[in-house]
Amino acid sequence: ETESDDFVVDDEIVKKIFKVRNEFSHKGTYGKATIAGGSYGKIGAAVLSTRAALRTGAGLTFVLAPKCGYEILQTSDPEAMFIEGGADYIDRFEIDETSVCGIGPGLGTHKKTSESLLKFLKNYSKPLILDADALNILAENPDNLLLIPEKSIITPHPKEFERLFGNTDNSFERTVLAQKKALELQIYIVLKDHHTQIITPEGKVFYNITGNSGLAKGGSGDILTGIITSLLAQHYSEEQAAVLGVWFHGKAAELASEMHSKESMLPTDVIAEFGNVFAELN
Ligand code: AMP
Ligand code: MG
Repeated sequence: ETESDDFVVDDEIVKKIFKVRNEFSHKGTYGKATIAGGSYGKIGAAVLSTRAALRTGAGLTFVLAPKCGYEILQTSDPEAMFIEGGADYIDRFEIDETSVCGIGPGLGTHKKTSESLLKFLKNYSKPLILDADALNILAENPDNLLLIPEKSIITPHPKEFERLFGNTDNSFERTVLAQKKALELQIYIVLKDHHTQIITPEGKVFYNITGNSGLAKGGSGDILTGIITSLLAQHYSEEQAAVLGVWFHGKAAELASEMHSKESMLPTDVIAEFGNVFAELN
């Protein structure tokens, strides 16, 4: 039996999690974040995810992407360091365990990408953030799920969740299934939706209520991956990084919609509001 503890993510929870930046610090204090993703035609996803990681405070940010993204990434995100993982798509995951890694935005599901991701997972044991095509690759075979390192955070949207774990009749059943899988696999599941839920391996459920339909656009999820990766790199716990990250993403979206409307706001505009969200937290 899963024990159930339900929480609404409110300002109080978030303020308790948030750590004020220490003036007596240096880039080593804030960890290394690596975003692995992008493929020919989907380099933008890696650009957005990497920029979101940079803009949430990681000490050093790397992006593992294919060579076709080199100039794009170095121009769009000059603060990030580029690691080449292939020609048009990633077929080599070279990530050391000193970095916190978010894998998936724009990754593609090429056969060689899939093979190299699975091979990488077989030899990697630190918690990862897995999103988008990384989840689609895992969904190709149920045995793949066992390769997810314990305490990893996965961030499926409803369709990706269904590919991973199967269909459910309603959102209540989906939450119950997510609790069961989070416990079995000892992972955190960020069930992305209008009200995103964060489900912990202990069966806790956090309901997030920030955000709006202006996020219903390509690229929104990619920036969430960047945020959570960056927070985990900064030594927030997995639970804290997931809860604070989801709340933060939604809060920035609310500010972006005030400025640009839900229709016109872009993920880029959401990132542009990160500073204002930090101003509220500080
Ligand atoms: P993805 O589908 O991977 O791009 O992720 C979409 C992101 O936007 C997730 O964080 C969702 O929670 C969020 N999102 C999408 N649609 C809505 C909506 N109608 N209301 C609030 N958040 C949304
Ligand atoms: Mg996505």
